[in-house]
Amino acid sequence: MRRRRLLLTACAAALATATVPSAARAAGAPPVPVVASFSILGDIVREVGGDRVALTVLVGPGADAHVYQPTPAQARTVAQARVLFSIGLGFEGWLTRFLRAAGFEGRHVVVADGLPRLHAEGGRSHAGHHHHHDVDPHVWQNVAHAVAITARVAEALCVADPGGCGGHRERAAAYTARLQALDREIRDAWASVPPQRRTIITSHEAFGHYGAAYGVRFLSPQGISTEAEASARGVAALVRQVRAEGATALFVENVADPRLIEQIARETGLRPSGRLYADSLTGPDGAAPDYLTMMRHNTGRMVEALR
Ligand SMILES: [Zn+2]
Repeated sequence: MRRRRLLLTACAAALATATVPSAARAAGAPPVPVVASFSILGDIVREVGGDRVALTVLVGPGADAHVYQPTPAQARTVAQARVLFSIGLGFEGWLTRFLRAAGFEGRHVVVADGLPRLHAEGGRSHAGHHHHHDVDPHVWQNVAHAVAITARVAEALCVADPGGCGGHRERAAAYTARLQALDREIRDAWASVPPQRRTIITSHEAFGHYGAAYGVRFLSPQGISTEAEASARGVAALVRQVRAEGATALFVENVADPRLIEQIARETGLRPSGRLYADSLTGPDGAAPDYLTMMRHNTGRMVEALR
């Protein structure tokens, strides 16, 4: 009787890979060591894995995941990890070499694989030329992609931790419901801003996926990476465009250099409307301690500035 109840409640993956006794044993097993490349992805992994995972986040709150130097202690942690989650698409350019040096032998899950590709505007620094690395890696800026990432995380954790699979799926379903509510909230918020007014200037091209999902145009002096150099000509063109079009809001970002935005503010007479959180969360006391709060904050500030 007890055996049948267990069978009924265990998830399909657990049934496929583990017998009931081993699943029961795994219920008291130590948490699975997993790694996420940066804070935003780490938040999603934590939501799905709960206390079944021992999570290490490489690029923490307030740090720039485009350019990062992992520590020797992180290399030792990564060597022990069973699963590592990254975005891919060149976002964490330092990661491949680091994993090889650290001797990582677990499963590497690249969460942007399979998501729709979006080519960046081209980066003003490239004067309009497209390069293969101009695929926009900031996939989390579309909440529908966060839903897909949540499902991928749950699937990978089920493989690494079959005994905890039921819990991973339950937490993923609960988090997905919150993400879907957030997506509706963002669409409702933008409904109050006429489409022709929806232009925003930010430091680097981090919001292409947000713009494509929610109907907002983003212009940036820097390309898709904070590493890219903005050209003087690109900045001048952006200033001319802002003057010609008006109806624009300027924002600085939490991890990008604010000086270009300050320069554009001086030359256009627009005042920066505040700070957006693009590539990183804040600490617990900041404005973006988790993904849901970050997306709400960004949306609220942008809508308020344009309305
Ligand atoms: Zn970025």
